[in-house]
Formats: sequence, structure tokens, C-alpha cells
Amino acid sequence: MSDPGTTTSGIPAPDYEPPAPGYEPPAWRAREAALLAPWAMSAAETAGRVYPEPPHPFRSPYQRDRDRIVHSAAFRRLAHKTQVFTGYHGDYHRSRLTHTLEVTNIARTLARALALNEDLVETLALAHDIGHPPLGHAGEDTLAELLRTEGGFNHNAQALRIMELLETRYPEFPGLNLSREVLEAQATRKKDGTAPAPLLETQVVDAADSIAYDTHDADDAIELGLVSLEELLELPLVAEAATRVRDRLGPLGSGDLRRAVIHELVDFQVAELVRTSLARLRGLGIRSVADVRAAGTDPGRRILAHTPAVAAAKRELERFLFTRVYRSERVLAVRVPAQQRLAEMFDWYAAHPEQLPPRFHERAAAFGVRRSTADYIAGMTDRFLEADHGRCFSD
Ligand code: MG
Repeated sequence: MSDPGTTTSGIPAPDYEPPAPGYEPPAWRAREAALLAPWAMSAAETAGRVYPEPPHPFRSPYQRDRDRIVHSAAFRRLAHKTQVFTGYHGDYHRSRLTHTLEVTNIARTLARALALNEDLVETLALAHDIGHPPLGHAGEDTLAELLRTEGGFNHNAQALRIMELLETRYPEFPGLNLSREVLEAQATRKKDGTAPAPLLETQVVDAADSIAYDTHDADDAIELGLVSLEELLELPLVAEAATRVRDRLGPLGSGDLRRAVIHELVDFQVAELVRTSLARLRGLGIRSVADVRAAGTDPGRRILAHTPAVAAAKRELERFLFTRVYRSERVLAVRVPAQQRLAEMFDWYAAHPEQLPPRFHERAAAFGVRRSTADYIAGMTDRFLEADHGRCFSD
């Protein structure tokens, strides 16, 4: 048994002070009361769950929500779902899971800097892409086209379906029975005009998503040789990041410069967003969650937003990535035949609904064969889709 005043390696820990007798760690309510800003969504104010559950002895409602997301099948499958590049392109680039983890890191940094509810932010960030089908946006486009006259397909709406219906982890209720604020946050992303004004915790995750993909897609594209660092340096957002890096570190080789510029792009956007958003919170006199909700649903009036100049520079980077990366020949060469296979699988299961797993077969009675088929296909990973296509279409 080691002395509690020393570290594992035996080096004395000079600042160690043993807890006083009778010490109790602060419970989540006390932590939130001490740490959250008045504009943050406190778990103590939650509107609860659709299926009421007794409180947990020490986890807050949003901690439970986060844990339920991480333990869901939909979350695990993100590891083998495409972000932009598939397994054909190598193994350096981000998968849907590592993208999600980068978004979660950035969102948590933003949440802490703005004294928002980190548990809720982590839940929303970890869940933000669970509705994506295989093949990323390519798969989404194909399913949307196949269901064009039957309500379409959207990954944000699908995430809500997973949360409320499709996950089957708990015998007591369908879905994950998450807190109403989590469902509400997911509903704000459907962008169909019916959504309530997003909480700041939701706005943080949307901003972190954009910071993450603008930056890591540029990094992945350089690694894959789709674009060069020199080309990216012609874009103002990247050029200014490189100037700050060189001012700080002096001249660098291209590998070091690239890595430092990618870090700087994230750090700059996060710091700028915190600064600008705090000024806007003060300027708008936001003092409560009710004030946040009253601030409006118009995306142009979001409280958490970059300055117009930074937003314009980000759009320029996004236009570049769209034409040079997302619509590049090498990406389309994989995307188009994969979309074809996804469509073939959809038609096959829609024609053979008895081949769906039993729970999808049962849901087909309530939602129709084509919607239930889409639910099944959307849950597949890229590699499962490929293997299943091989199984169904091999001679
Ligand atoms: Mg995302």
C-alpha cells in the first residue's frame, strides 16, 4: 500500500493534502450551481424523459444521456462509416467516429470557456452524426432520392429516429429514452422550419462540427495528395494561420508547417468564437436560457457565431474543399459505384422484406416496408453494406 502523499513512482507529491474527515465529493447539482453560467442549460431544470425513470444516485440526467449514446450500437458503428474518404483511400483520414471525437473535444473546450453544460454538450456532440448512413453524404443523397415521395431521408431526422425508436438496448422503453433537451437539440438540426430556437449547448456543437470538418478535411486532402499546402495557403483563413505560426515559430519545413497550421486553424477559430460570442451574449443582455430561446431560430441570428469576416473566410475554404475534395475525381470514383450498390440493396430488401431482421420486419407494419428498409440500410457500416451486397448479388 503506497503512502497517499506520494505518486505511483514514489516521488513525493508536495501539494497533496488529504481530504478532511467526512469529506463528500460535490454532487452534480452543486457542481453545476458553482460552474454554469446563467445562460447554460442546467440538468436540474430538465424537462425529463418521455418514459419517467427514477433519478440516478450520482449521475446527472445529461451524464446518463452521454453514457447511453456511447453504449449505443449506432455510436459504435461510426467507426466504420465514411466521413469523406472511405477505406479505399487509406487509413490516415478521419472516419465518422474520429470526426465525432474531434467535434466533441472542440465542443467541450467551447462549453467550458462559455460556462455551458459540458455533459449536455458532450451528449449532443457524440450523438450529432449517429444518423449518418454508410458512405456519408453520398449514402444520404441516395436514400433521400429513393424516398423522395415518402418523406425523404435526412441524417438529422434519422438520428432522432435512432434515439426515440431504433436502438433496442433497454427492455423498459423503445430507443434510448434521452432527456427532452437532447431530443429537442436534435430536432433543431432538422432545419425544416419547425424547430425551436437552439440552446447554446446545441449552437456550440454545430460550431464545433464546422471547425472540425473545415480543418480536418483540409488535412486529410493534403495527406491524400488531392490538394497541396501551397494551394491552401492561397486562402485567407489558412494564409493568416500560417503567418501567425511563422511569427511564433520562425521558418518551418512543409511537414511541420502543415501540422502547425492545422492546429492553429482550430485554435484560432475556437478562440475567435469564444471572444465574439461572449461579446454578443453581453450585447444582447442574455441572462437566462429563456433569453437564449427568445433570441430566435434564424440561423443568421445565432448567438454563437464567428465575425462576418471569419465566417466569409470559412465559406471560401468550404467552397475550395467542395470543388477540390468532395467533388474530386478520386472521391467520386469511389462514391458513384458505392451509391449504386446502396440503391441495389435498398431495392432488394424492399422487394424481399421478409429478409429484414425480425424487428425491422415488425416495424415495416407500422412505418411501411420502404421506411423500415431505409432504417436497416442506414444502420449499416460501409463494410457491412459491401459484404451484404456481395451476399445478395453473388451468382
Ligand atoms: Mg459532423
